[in-house]
Amino acid sequence: MSDEKNICPDCNQTMKIIGSRKRTVKDISGEQYMFSLRRMRCETCNIIHTEIPDCIIPHKQYSKNAIITAIKGQCDYYTMENSTVFRWKKQDIPELQ
Ligand SMILES: [Zn+2]
Repeated sequence: MSDEKNICPDCNQTMKIIGSRKRTVKDISGEQYMFSLRRMRCETCNIIHTEIPDCIIPHKQYSKNAIITAIKGQCDYYTMENSTVFRWKKQDIPELQ
């Protein structure tokens, strides 16, 4: 484990790691990857934050890369439904900007 500081995005204080949560993400071919996301608590705000790596978009089942590839139509074959891709396009996902 690295000793990098985990800074609260709200108050800039150091947060304490309180555990981790498993998160499954699918890539463009539907293959699943398991991530372990650290959960941290800010003792100033009393808020629990979950660390989200760059390749994961909150509340999305697919990886960022998979979503970008699908939206841009860079792949002839994907496992997600057309309606899912259509929804992503309409959502204007902030993490993709
Ligand atoms: Zn805080």
